[in-house]
Amino acid sequence: MFNNKELFKTAFKEQLVSRLGKSMDEATAGDIYKILGNLIREVIGREWAETNQEYKSQQQKQVYYFSMEFLIGRLLGNNLLNLGLLETVRDGLLELGWNLEEIEEQEPDAGLGNGGLGRLAACFLDSLASLGYAGHGCGIRYKYGLFEQKIIDGHQVELPDDWLQKGNVWEERRPDKRVLVSFWGQVEISEENGRTVFRTVNDEKIWAVPYDVPVIGYGDLHVNTLRLWSAESAMDPARMRMQGQNSYYKFLDYNRSVESISEFLYPDDSGYEGKLLRLKQQYFLCSAGLHSVLRTFEKLGRPYTELPDKVALHINDTHPTLLIPELMRILIDDQGFGWDEAWDITTRTVSYTNHTLLSEALEKWPVNMVRELLPRVYMIIEEINKRFCGMLLERFPGRQDLVDQMAIIESDQVKMAHLAVVGSYSVNGVAQLHTDLLKQDVMKPFYELYPERFNNKTNGITHRRWLMHANPELSRLISETIGTEWILNPHQLLKLEEYKDDPAFQESIMRIKRGNKLRLADYIRQKQGISVDPDSIFDVQVKRLHGYKRQLMNILHVMHLYNEIKDHPSEERVPRTFIFGAKAAPGYYLAKSIIKLINVVADVVNRDPQMNGKLKVLFLENYSVSLAEKIIPAANVSEQISTAGKEASGTGNMKFMMNGALTIGTLDGANVEMHEMLGDDNMFLFGLRSEEVLQYYRSGGYHAREMYERDPRIKRVMDQLVSAGPFCCHDLEFGLISQSILDLNDEFFVLRDFGSYADTQAAIDRAYLDTQAWAAKSIVNIAHAGHFSSDCTINRYAADIWKIRPVQPAIQV
Ligand SMILES: *Cc1c(COP(=O)(O)O)cnc(C)c1O
Repeated sequence: MFNNKELFKTAFKEQLVSRLGKSMDEATAGDIYKILGNLIREVIGREWAETNQEYKSQQQKQVYYFSMEFLIGRLLGNNLLNLGLLETVRDGLLELGWNLEEIEEQEPDAGLGNGGLGRLAACFLDSLASLGYAGHGCGIRYKYGLFEQKIIDGHQVELPDDWLQKGNVWEERRPDKRVLVSFWGQVEISEENGRTVFRTVNDEKIWAVPYDVPVIGYGDLHVNTLRLWSAESAMDPARMRMQGQNSYYKFLDYNRSVESISEFLYPDDSGYEGKLLRLKQQYFLCSAGLHSVLRTFEKLGRPYTELPDKVALHINDTHPTLLIPELMRILIDDQGFGWDEAWDITTRTVSYTNHTLLSEALEKWPVNMVRELLPRVYMIIEEINKRFCGMLLERFPGRQDLVDQMAIIESDQVKMAHLAVVGSYSVNGVAQLHTDLLKQDVMKPFYELYPERFNNKTNGITHRRWLMHANPELSRLISETIGTEWILNPHQLLKLEEYKDDPAFQESIMRIKRGNKLRLADYIRQKQGISVDPDSIFDVQVKRLHGYKRQLMNILHVMHLYNEIKDHPSEERVPRTFIFGAKAAPGYYLAKSIIKLINVVADVVNRDPQMNGKLKVLFLENYSVSLAEKIIPAANVSEQISTAGKEASGTGNMKFMMNGALTIGTLDGANVEMHEMLGDDNMFLFGLRSEEVLQYYRSGGYHAREMYERDPRIKRVMDQLVSAGPFCCHDLEFGLISQSILDLNDEFFVLRDFGSYADTQAAIDRAYLDTQAWAAKSIVNIAHAGHFSSDCTINRYAADIWKIRPVQPAIQV
């Protein structure tokens, strides 16, 4: 271990020679990155093995977090931070002539996720390891992560994300730990020794090969594992060759189809993805992951009846729900358990997090597809359903309506959320409001049947990445002001509240913010050649593009501001820079035309000399974790403006809060909890409440056209979408947007909330003019953000759901 600069420099130069045969003069930034990664791998190698050994010898209960997505981003900086080597390496590299930030830019983002759900999984891994819990990730090693977004002529263009092209310094291929996964075939049933035996024949077997990534905790060296599975051919090429030319082509075809299973992440953020390949991916993850978990469990030499005491299997949304029938299958077919005992073990081992209230995002699979691809698993789902429906009818005689409503298999569809609730012991929502709505609405009958299963676990974010790594200056200021205790116990950030009216501290906060804005301004100038005013309000909305997130309302409001400035050119204004970043699912045409609209508005506004010093609009392409780390510390205003009742939690909102931005938002998701802590003074609320939205959905009464006719501001911007003017129009390309609002009655209440949003934005202008008051609000936000550290969230999962304790209780939150 190189715990000082000189040792580091020596070790570094040695590696450069021994691995690449290069001297410092010959090395490229890419070389430096690679060598640094290898050095870290060496540093942690022994501890990684030791952590595993410790788990084994202490027979620790292990948590496995199954997720189709891990939106990790870059690891170099965070690993150095968690190892306590950031300063040593930064200083050492500087003396060798390199800037660490520049080296970090060499690392491709691991973009194995779409958005919030995948990023949550990554934050959880960091907290599990940092708090000393035995908790591991289980996912898929997609060859291509979420597409890279280019903006060409204002349109989103998707490019493949070839993130593994230059290798991945963090992963370790473990062919010795591969497992077979089986698809297709037929189930043969026979009687053997008085027992019914199920055997799948003519199936297609493939290899799942794990790639392990170390998850390095902060402080005390504690290294967990993220195991990512890759699909490989299990056909013996030698045998194929014996059978002649034709079978050679079959072999190649087969290979191609096998590899496609872990080829790419579905770029669909929350919608239903009806592809066979997606179902294959889900089963591949569940089957491979479970086999490897059970292999580790079996080494303990304990009976399977103790599985729930030694293993917790958590599923991140319904995507890995097949874990439930797969565990049943293994317990019954391979371990010889009877149904009831297997069911008892399974339902005491699996827990489930629900992530969405959007009905179109609730997963359903056609019965035929599941039955053909996974014949034995389907039989088990059918049996689970039969027993569940039977139980319902017994408890609620004559209530066929209830059975139809709650069944796992209904109308030739397998409903994954129902299977997940029935087959697990805990169901949690991701913010208080979301959990309440699950209980009252979406999952009401299940809640009434199993009230003890439902609980809330409000999402969180790791303050190590989102504050310490993304905003080192702010971190340093906090430590200088209240000491470093907050790093291990983020609740301690509350101590900052005492300083909210301290002029010197306020001044430091604003100076650091300005520095971050300057850095972002540099990035923007370099990428787009546009200069932005660091003294303008940086107003940011970065997140996936979706109707319910209402980027449309934001850009319509910008158009309205443009109109106002045009109408009153000599009026003084508080300068604003609106910054957007968002990827749209490639098949989501409405979302893509909103991206185009933002870019058109940006172009018009930024070229107009009358807007100079008053208004700027930017769309930053390819929103990703590493870009988020650049943008969020520079924000003054955080846009969290979803239709109330639609955003399950949000985590972007927490990142901004932690970095001192003030939120303009609806009472939705975790904004509700932010508001409880901050009060009206430190947050800008507007818009419909979730009850009002629900009331409209239930009883009607909303007419978007009325809003359009009534409010001239709205009429003007809506007309500008489709008639000749500054923003339009040769080909009616925004017709789809206009239609969705005026003809399809504005599903997400954009026009309904527009007035309230515009008024609140005006209030923000006024508030920003009082710099001291603004700084005080910013400080209060940072002070309360510790509550949203994923360390707190993970401690609650550990205590309430998984029933685990830290291996070494080093950190108390
Ligand atoms: C945090 C994060 C998200 C989630 O943002 P929301 O505002 O909660 O939707 C999405 N993408 C990236 C890259 C993130 O870092």
